[in-house]
Amino acid sequence: PRYVVPALADARLVAHRKQSEELLTEDATRDPLTGLWNRRSLELAIHAAKVGDCIAMLDLDHFKRVNDTFGHGEGDLVLSAFASFLGRRLRHMDIFGRLGGEEFVIIFTETQLRDTCEILCRLRQQWAETAPHGTTFSAGVATVGPVTPDAVSAGAAALSRADALMYRAKAAGRNVVWCEGADNTCEELL
Ligand code: GH3
Ligand code: MG
Ligand code: MG
Repeated sequence: PRYVVPALADARLVAHRKQSEELLTEDATRDPLTGLWNRRSLELAIHAAKVGDCIAMLDLDHFKRVNDTFGHGEGDLVLSAFASFLGRRLRHMDIFGRLGGEEFVIIFTETQLRDTCEILCRLRQQWAETAPHGTTFSAGVATVGPVTPDAVSAGAAALSRADALMYRAKAAGRNVVWCEGADNTCEELL
């Protein structure tokens, strides 16, 4: 009957709108390539990080070479593989995502620096042994300290220290995890 048509149309419209809203939420929080939290979600989590947490900045080594040698599509596959590798190995309490490009951030909630370095040390080794195209990563690890007046948040300050330590790991030859305070690679620290 005719009167069903507007009702059906309404139901479809509602379903469609609901789906678009869900998609919008997904788009706003997730990175479409890897399905991980995107930069926006990560920034919220970083600002919410507390004393007792550790933050790690990870960057795939010589990733441009993967693209240049095997193509962009293969590079994308490596990024997805790295994301699922992290997903399989990190704990439920760890918050992680893709900051952008080939850079990833992990927030180790309520985890001491030494334990964080031990976890990352193992990840570094496991990834280097199993990664597609022999890719490796370098990382810097910093602890979240008390909030200081000059920093946006304690988490943001820790991330920026982790980033600087990641560059030290690169300078130390790559495929290295550099831990704060110890002024050392994770292997030397443990
Ligand atoms: P380093 O060891 O110093 O980090 O060297 P790198 O080559 O990893 O670093 P560089 O910053 O020179 O290159 C990063 C590359 O990551 C360049 C860019 O094309 C690639 N990249 C960024 N985002 C994506 C992406 O979504 N997909 C693919 N396939 N490549 C990406
Ligand atoms: Mg990079
Ligand atoms: Mg890189």
